[in-house]
Amino acid sequence: MPTCRDMTELSTDYLESTLGWRARLGVWWHLVLCDMCRAYYDQLAKTLQLLRGRPLDGPNEVVEARILATRPIEPGTTP
Ligand SMILES: [Zn+2]
Repeated sequence: MPTCRDMTELSTDYLESTLGWRARLGVWWHLVLCDMCRAYYDQLAKTLQLLRGRPLDGPNEVVEARILATRPIEPGTTP
């Protein structure tokens, strides 16, 4: 099973369905067990959904949105 640190990278791949079945199972199981990574995953999924739902103005906005999407959530803070 991946660690919480691994999950910051694997969550994007999981959302984009680019992982093999073993890795997907590990990510899925981690999300079932870990509240913090599930909150991060939900945030990432919403961000990607927003990005796909509207055209972006330019490359800088894409990079900025990607940085925001991959920033880990600190406990006790609102993203
Ligand atoms: Zn975790």
